Amino acid sequence: TTTAEGGHPENGHSGNRHPGSGRSGSGHPDIDEVLVSSSEIAAKIAELAARVDADYAGREILLVGVLKGAVMVMADLSRALHVPLTMEFMAVSSYGSSTSSSGVVRILKDLDRSIEGRDVLVVEDIIDSGLTLSWLLKNLRSRGPASLEVLALFRKPEAITVDVDVRYVGFDIPSAFVVGYGLDYSEYYRTLPFVGTLTPAAIERGAP
Ligand code: 5GP
Repeated sequence: TTTAEGGHPENGHSGNRHPGSGRSGSGHPDIDEVLVSSSEIAAKIAELAARVDADYAGREILLVGVLKGAVMVMADLSRALHVPLTMEFMAVSSYGSSTSSSGVVRILKDLDRSIEGRDVLVVEDIIDSGLTLSWLLKNLRSRGPASLEVLALFRKPEAITVDVDVRYVGFDIPSAFVVGYGLDYSEYYRTLPFVGTLTPAAIERGAP
């Protein structure tokens, strides 16, 4: 999802474990530590796609991607699936700092089509508090889908304050602010092929 502007990635999070070390081996000077490599992500997407294919055999899926963070997961997951599928996108904004959502959500871009009677699979980048997702599921459920499940590539378990049922989870990661593979820091770093933490210098600069 997209969070409101403002705030700071170190607020409310444990921050980098190796401040300024830059010894991640990522090849990117702004990355402090790689938490999940691109090959680990690729393997996980393949594994999740196989599970989804098996669970939805004989049915058609409507993937609902939550912009902008989920674009990379959507692109890779959708191409790894074999069941017939269509895609829709939704953009929501959580009020709060850039790193902790309040659960107050605003729709920035709604779905283009009805999801009534459809088998909907929501594709999320990361679940932190779970407040955004909880709101989104309630909203989508009210539109009468035949089924409604969630796939999230990353989850921060310590931070989950709302009990949301996520059927497919890629990785449980620590409560640090991360970027890459769709996840941004002030809109930058989404195109990194891995997921990692930023160096304090990069956080301070606010841009690559
Ligand atoms: P929640 O409502 O679960 O607290 O917030 C979920 C949204 O916050 C995610 O979809 C994502 O947009 C943003 N978010 C949460 N943790 C991170 C993080 O570590 N890095 C980035 N870039 N965004 C995050």
